[in-house]
Amino acid sequence: MIVNMSEKATEQEITHVIERIREAGYQPHVTRGVERTIVAAVGSGRRHEIEALQVAPGVDTVVAIAQPFKLVSRQVRPERSVVEINGVRIGGPEVVVIAGPCSVESREQLLDTAHAVRQAGASMLRGGAYKPRTSPYDFQGLGLEALKILREAREQTGLPVVTEVMSTEDVDVICEHVDMLQVGARNMQNFALLRRLATVNRPILLKRGPSATVKEWLLAAEYLLSGGNQQVVLCERGIKTFETEMRNTFDLAAVALARDLSHLPVIADPSHGTGKQSLIAAVSRAAVAVGADGLIIEVHPCPERALSDGPQSLDFAGFEKVMRALREPLRPTAVPRVAALSAQS
Ligand code: PEP
Ligand code: MN
Repeated sequence: MIVNMSEKATEQEITHVIERIREAGYQPHVTRGVERTIVAAVGSGRRHEIEALQVAPGVDTVVAIAQPFKLVSRQVRPERSVVEINGVRIGGPEVVVIAGPCSVESREQLLDTAHAVRQAGASMLRGGAYKPRTSPYDFQGLGLEALKILREAREQTGLPVVTEVMSTEDVDVICEHVDMLQVGARNMQNFALLRRLATVNRPILLKRGPSATVKEWLLAAEYLLSGGNQQVVLCERGIKTFETEMRNTFDLAAVALARDLSHLPVIADPSHGTGKQSLIAAVSRAAVAVGADGLIIEVHPCPERALSDGPQSLDFAGFEKVMRALREPLRPTAVPRVAALSAQS
């Protein structure tokens, strides 16, 4: 349930509503907007006691939250959230580009990539230390050694770093070394991991599971917010469909939908979303056009030698080209026919 306070509600009236929500067995969550304050009653409790707040002083309306996800929903927080990662703001007016290799393979490979992507205009660095690989025989990542290399890259370039966490056991050591933790697609519904990450003082990049609905994805984010971590960025990275030419099917509409349903920033991963170097520029531009707050792109000094995800990784020149393409206007010569008609009338 949501209690919308009136614009003129006093602090005392807001405090009263918060107390009554607690008494009714719910957790109160307060969102102070520019114009008015919203107090959400989250969890399970005595609903009729919240409904009765309709007549409490300072209350405008009491409404049910339509979606199963609550704190994530725009009903609870109509204004967009901005997540700050050591000075980089995701969810603001700028499109933030995160770039780097799929896996950290060596000190030289990562440092060269970090400098190159920074030069080309990336704002953050990515690199996997613990890799979720489909086969146990594939490269599994350098673990702690990779974390140290990532930290050195951050010190040299100033770029905040994001890396994937696969297990609750690794959370502390990863938090010591990097700025943001990624929950990979395969772990989107690892609830023990989500619960643990809800308690850390680090922003979380939450990828959509390859077979997850948008609702399930937002409910996974709800685990983080309800457990106390409000710093969550969503990432669409493609889903499984019957299509076989691409590694995954990038769900463009889900980027727009997630931003409609939630106040959390949403970024796009065209690398995993397509599996193809040649599609990165087009899908990146499309994602930005539908509202993506950022992009995460795989870059490798020599994709043909990459230990993971070479076919979808750009080399330095390819990445620079994508960054240039992102600055170009979207097809200025292709004016939709409908727009031309309405301009005449
Ligand atoms: C990755 O970012 O390299 C990765 C493994 O991503 P996903 O979890 O989306 O497959
Ligand atoms: Mn990858």
